[in-house]
Amino acid sequence: NLSQRLSGVIKTLRGQARLTEANIQDAMREVRMALLEADVALPVVKDFIAKVRERSLGQEVMSSLTPGQAVVQVVYQELTLLMGDHNATLNLAARPPAVILLAGLQGAGKTTTAGKLAKFLREQMKKKVLLTSCDVYRPAAIEQLRTLAQQLETDFFPSEVGQQPEKIALDALDFARKHFHDVVIVDTAGRLGIDEAMMDEIKRLHAALDPIETLFVVDAMQGQDAVNTAKAFSDALPLTGVILTKLDGDSRGGAALSVRQVTGKPIKFVGVGEKVAGLEPFYPDRMASRVLGMGDVLSLIEDAQRGVDQDEAQKLAKKLKSGKSFDLEDFKQQMQQMKKMGGISALMDKLPGQLSQAAAGAQVDDKAIGRLEGIINSMTPQERRKPEILKAGRKRRIAAGAGVQVQEVNRLLSQFEQTQKMMKMLSKGGGMAKMMRGMK
Ligand code: GDP
Ligand code: MG
Repeated sequence: NLSQRLSGVIKTLRGQARLTEANIQDAMREVRMALLEADVALPVVKDFIAKVRERSLGQEVMSSLTPGQAVVQVVYQELTLLMGDHNATLNLAARPPAVILLAGLQGAGKTTTAGKLAKFLREQMKKKVLLTSCDVYRPAAIEQLRTLAQQLETDFFPSEVGQQPEKIALDALDFARKHFHDVVIVDTAGRLGIDEAMMDEIKRLHAALDPIETLFVVDAMQGQDAVNTAKAFSDALPLTGVILTKLDGDSRGGAALSVRQVTGKPIKFVGVGEKVAGLEPFYPDRMASRVLGMGDVLSLIEDAQRGVDQDEAQKLAKKLKSGKSFDLEDFKQQMQQMKKMGGISALMDKLPGQLSQAAAGAQVDDKAIGRLEGIINSMTPQERRKPEILKAGRKRRIAAGAGVQVQEVNRLLSQFEQTQKMMKMLSKGGGMAKMMRGMK
């Protein structure tokens, strides 16, 4: 299986200091097989391998990683990158009602997803939602959505078999305007295969509604076929995102990569169950490890990585013990480490209660880390070592250099001071390295 394949890659490349054309050749063959086994479409696999090969070539191997681990890490990082931004959300920035149009083949999960989205929008975003069905070919399809709406206690705009889809949709929109709905979710008809009549119909609906979100709903179990379906829908409609359903099944999720590649649009949610609660945000990194089937392999890499982090942590602990104080350079390094370990939020969960509160007080969120680093980069080495010399004039210079307001520099300094306090606490009680170990 796949994990074995990737472990195989790691073994073959053991002991090489640099990745070369020759030694990554075999590795790439295994990765290619791995992706095909995960049902990623062939053209997508080819592109991907080419990219990974290029990035791997000549790469120095980090001391704690074996070359094989380095290759697998590149594969994992590239895959994560390819699957897009972390957690893209719905865009509702339209004059209300914001229209969400769902498109996809029959059985993809459109109707179920319409219900799930209604629940999500109502509960998480406090929106007033209207559901309507333009699937005018099967009475059961309309009935299915009506039942869902009832169960969710969400408004439903009725329709009947034989009515014109655009008319239903426009009437629903009209109704929503009059009743102050924030969002209208429009469910549509799909066929078993791609056909022209279906595409024409959804195109007309799109033109009539001008939706802010046009979401392509696709079944993760579709595997290799997902590419053709995605291409057809993406050619016909200006998609804004993708929802990948049935990920609770045993699909390896290769469709995620294919669909992302072909449409170029972010996967916004994944369906993980038949029930209305079975909807989750999409996490590229999780999907990458799923596609690679490499829980085990990844933990191998993490072990190696951890070695590095611990070295850093120990250096820091030593420094603190020797009476030197924690400075902005340390602060920056610490932030970089936090990023590596999955960000502050992941870290906070692992900190013991009291510390976690201190960290929360420091109010560093994952996105802010990058900005903070930018500010520290604009300081001179002396300023980093002796933050106490940072008076108004220097702060202005730093702010200008980093392209931020002076307040942000001040905020960074107060966060730094909080962390410095935390570090003092830690160096008294048992040591940094110990804490870092505990967090993994
Ligand atoms: P539509 O034809 O595109 O409207 O698809 P439906 O919403 O009717 O879904 C088709 C089938 O897939 C139904 O049996 C759903 O219960 C099921 N389904 C939809 N989404 C999911 C999901 O995320 N997980 C699982 N396990 N089943 C799903
Ligand atoms: Mg349906």
